[in-house]
Amino acid sequence: MKEYGAATNLNQINSEGVSVQVMPLQMENDLSLPNLTKLPNLLAAISLREDRNMKVYNESGEDEEVLDNRKIFLNKLGLSEKNVVGVRSMHGDNIEIVINKDCGNFICDTDGLITSQRNVYLSITVADCLPVIIFDPLKEVICLVHCGWKGLEKKIIEKAVKKITDNFNVDSNKLIGGIGPGIGRCHFDVKEDFLPRFKSYPDAIVIKDGKNYIDLKMIAKRQLEIAGIKKGNIEMSPVCTYCQSDKYFSYRKDKSSPVQAMITVAGIK
Ligand SMILES: [Zn+2]
Repeated sequence: MKEYGAATNLNQINSEGVSVQVMPLQMENDLSLPNLTKLPNLLAAISLREDRNMKVYNESGEDEEVLDNRKIFLNKLGLSEKNVVGVRSMHGDNIEIVINKDCGNFICDTDGLITSQRNVYLSITVADCLPVIIFDPLKEVICLVHCGWKGLEKKIIEKAVKKITDNFNVDSNKLIGGIGPGIGRCHFDVKEDFLPRFKSYPDAIVIKDGKNYIDLKMIAKRQLEIAGIKKGNIEMSPVCTYCQSDKYFSYRKDKSSPVQAMITVAGIK
């Protein structure tokens, strides 16, 4: 199979138009998924609050300052924005398969990306929503899903796994799943009339001190399992973005307008 963009991920064009090599910094991996992120052929990372806002598109259009923040963070990972595909997410369930020619673009109305090509790095933004990574390390297929309660209600994770197995001749019990930092059940309290949406996940509903909480990470894990991924192949970050809002952006805690968010990046090296 032809490899696209090989060996370009460490090259940057400087202000004089000269290609220079950017070395990846040794950085702590804040996705808090140690098994997944140690896989040698996978690059997966999340930015932090200190890296500033990564949500490029808001109500008033494209934010140039955010594009700069994004470029700086991607360079820190040893990537160029020219190797990265973004989304303009809609809290829907649309998932697109992308290839080398999609790099540098933001795919509209999409909450999940899949690729089987090396050096095509997938990206989404999250602030309380979950970044979910699905990976086949042997056949080298990767998927990154932006997953809030709306996507989970639409079973976006099950749809993502089906799209991988239908299109890439992959067996779901060989897949690895990772659920990254997001709002924990400690802080996702909802009104009682919200609960029926998730009645098929009774273990994910917690009623404590007269308040109702939903465990979105548990629902994500359930959907990975229902789609055929082995329990032992699923890793879940313990980080609640609301509890750790000094380090991560949190939509519920920050109440900022426009919304500020982290970027999650995942791709095959
Ligand atoms: Zn919390």
